Amino acid sequence: MDRAIRALIGEGEFTAFVAVTKELVEESRLIHGTFPTATAALGRALTLVGLMGLNLKGREKVSIQILSEGPIREIYAQGDPEGNVRGFIRWPDVDLPPTSDGKLNVEGALGRRGMLYVLRDFGYGEPYMGMIPLKSGGIATDLAYYFTISEGIPSAVAAGVLVGKKGEVLGAGGFIVQPLPGTSENRIQALEENIKKMPQISRQVAEGATPEDILQMIAQGLGAVVLAHKQLQYRCSCSRERAERALLSLGEAELIDMIDRDGGAEVKCEFCGRKYQFSRADLELILSRIKTRGN
Ligand SMILES: [Zn+2]
Repeated sequence: MDRAIRALIGEGEFTAFVAVTKELVEESRLIHGTFPTATAALGRALTLVGLMGLNLKGREKVSIQILSEGPIREIYAQGDPEGNVRGFIRWPDVDLPPTSDGKLNVEGALGRRGMLYVLRDFGYGEPYMGMIPLKSGGIATDLAYYFTISEGIPSAVAAGVLVGKKGEVLGAGGFIVQPLPGTSENRIQALEENIKKMPQISRQVAEGATPEDILQMIAQGLGAVVLAHKQLQYRCSCSRERAERALLSLGEAELIDMIDRDGGAEVKCEFCGRKYQFSRADLELILSRIKTRGN
């Protein structure tokens, strides 16, 4: 079972979010049919929004979007306070040779020419959007850079996915650690040393590590207290009503064209692949609603 924890490290000196995400990344792979490098790229983004979701309440949502010139082009991942994540990748069939240290080459698949966007939707009003140019294309490093520069919170961020010979996900997980105001430079250095010494998270998860085990490694010599647990899962919030709204937004001319040309429509959710069928009669009903609204 995928799980995330929120913890305090030291004498209330750092907040830490740690997650194991092997199952949800595997589910994402099966939904999107991703090749290994793309599995890792989307998996890292899903892991990070899962972690960021731990800070949300009510109807809030957080999303990471990356637009780049690399072969993947676009990644979008969204998390909510219930531990639900979902995502989308423009080119799922991207697979590159591994990097020199044996990791999946997400940096190469996204490239460094692009932007990372963080969208915070509060469930009302306009969402907040922050952005930063990509620094490495590795996603975790880019998000750390975003937190430091754009939100003014220096952060240690990690996310990793380990893929087996058949493309299956063997391990996935990540963390976000942020110092609280007043934390001394010495303690920050001690934490940084711990993180530098840590083996790859995805490999640890593949060997059975829990979020608590990973937290112990991050907090070695500093101590940690777990404050909250949350189950994480890949779950889409699409529905027939939302598909209908998407059709409604196409406008009159496009709908008439669909009725005349295709005699119906199929709306496919790009997050989960679910298909919603609309007959000629369904489309005519939607069309009549546009017309009444227009009058
Ligand atoms: Zn869906």
